[in-house]
Amino acid sequence: MAAPRDGLEAVEAEGSAGLRGTSEIELVLPSGPAVPAPLCPHGPTLLFVKVTQGKEEARRFYACSACRDRKDCNFFQWEDEKLSGARLAAREAHNRRCQPTLSRRQCVERYLKFIELPLTQRKFCQRCQQLLLPDDWGQHSEHQVLGDVSVTQLRKPSQLLYPLENKKTYAQYLFADRSCQFLVDLLSTLGFRRVLCVGTPRLHELIRLTASADKNSNIKSLLLDIDFRYSQFYTEDSFCHYNMFNHHFFDGKTALEVCRAFLQEDKGEGVIMVTDPPFGGLVEPLAITFKKLIAMWKEGQSQDDSDKELPIFWIFPYFFESRICQFFPSFRMLDYQVDYDNHALYKHGKTGRKQSPVRIFTNIPLNKIILPTEEGYRFCSLCQRYVSLENQHCEHCNSCPSKDGRKWNHCFLCKKCVKPSWIHCSICSHCAVPDHSCQGPKDGCFICGELDHKRSACPNIATSKRANKAVRKQKQRKSNKMKMETTKGQSMNHTSATRRKKRRERAHQYLCS
Ligand code: SAH
Ligand code: ZN
Ligand code: ZN
Ligand code: ZN
Ligand code: ZN
Repeated sequence: MAAPRDGLEAVEAEGSAGLRGTSEIELVLPSGPAVPAPLCPHGPTLLFVKVTQGKEEARRFYACSACRDRKDCNFFQWEDEKLSGARLAAREAHNRRCQPTLSRRQCVERYLKFIELPLTQRKFCQRCQQLLLPDDWGQHSEHQVLGDVSVTQLRKPSQLLYPLENKKTYAQYLFADRSCQFLVDLLSTLGFRRVLCVGTPRLHELIRLTASADKNSNIKSLLLDIDFRYSQFYTEDSFCHYNMFNHHFFDGKTALEVCRAFLQEDKGEGVIMVTDPPFGGLVEPLAITFKKLIAMWKEGQSQDDSDKELPIFWIFPYFFESRICQFFPSFRMLDYQVDYDNHALYKHGKTGRKQSPVRIFTNIPLNKIILPTEEGYRFCSLCQRYVSLENQHCEHCNSCPSKDGRKWNHCFLCKKCVKPSWIHCSICSHCAVPDHSCQGPKDGCFICGELDHKRSACPNIATSKRANKAVRKQKQRKSNKMKMETTKGQSMNHTSATRRKKRRERAHQYLCS
């Protein structure tokens, strides 16, 4: 994504309108006949604009949909920039070079050969993250190679491969066993027979392990993920190399058809989508993608089922609730805290620093979802859902209001429950952390200043755009004359060090207050 930021910084940019800085990168939605976006190695790029409070809209540009770090994909192109034939050809060559050297089919053929080998010849190169056939051994003789790769190991690629956690782009945070088992049990209790796993390799793996161990629970799973390493372990009908920020199937139509057939099998009955996207990604492109997958499922429905929804579990931090519900109004948030193996912050209990802020958003009625009492959840008969033990029902709010699992307190001035550490501030006239600065940035909507929505959702956006357009045109005529080379790409890195630091502090407050 264009803006350089990690999961926590995204809290500020996406999670709450009231915490935003003074400028931000926004996704531009296609209006009118869609102009095909230029391609980067990760498929069609997305159109962005940098908006600054009190300023007109800046020049729009295309950037990679998947990569939040310029080091991973440095694609950049102004919307109105015309490229020479030579540059286009160079870009195409670059995109081709970035694709995996082996085709999807070749990977499967290698896998089939590999499982035929006797145990002593089954080797895995840890440096190259690759299963080796005898012909490859020479090339990897200097590398750290794991031998005797068992069938069990082959069935657990998420444990064989190292998680790509330091790479912002992939941000692989694998479910802790307990959370993964909870999900598999829940899916089977709810009666699902097919699971479309979008960015959930470990869940995919456990579903398949469970199905092969227990013939009664024969749930099928299809994994869509951008991590190509997984294509070594699965055949074409159980893994597609996929980009969830632009709904791009790297292996084209054949892969798309695998996904379509999976969603539409049994007239679309018995299927659910489960997704756990990188938290640093923008919600909007994800929502657009999920709507495309929903539409694909819908095509397979008979007419009389037209008001049915594709069941979805979207796993994401709780502070994205309003963003997610903006795109999917039927979604509700479960109190269940999703734990991760390799995320110090999001681990449960003593080993992790904090309770996990990650929740499940779903359109399945919450009263159908039983949370484990032994892990500290109880049923609230008034709310008709399972909640955290500490999440006490508030008679004034008429709900169990806590989002973070702790007991919240009702503030009669704010007319709602707030975090226990917050106090009502008479200067700000709302509740906040005790050491907040009352003069702090109150940057709501860039157009009207309201705190409850973003610029893009402002009812006044049309008027503001028209007014800005004239100014922009004039300015652009001027700037087009100048050579842009020196500033090219710099708008991607707009965040100054101090602003970044401030953001981190706010995000920190958010998680720790
Ligand atoms: N908790 C999950 C993993 C979530 S981590 C589990 O244990 O199964 C996020 C996952 O999304 C990773 O597998 C990562 O490879 C994948 N991912 C990251 N960016 C992606 C993209 N643009 N398109 C598709 N998958 C992506
Ligand atoms: Zn890219
Ligand atoms: Zn309740
Ligand atoms: Zn209350
Ligand atoms: Zn208050």
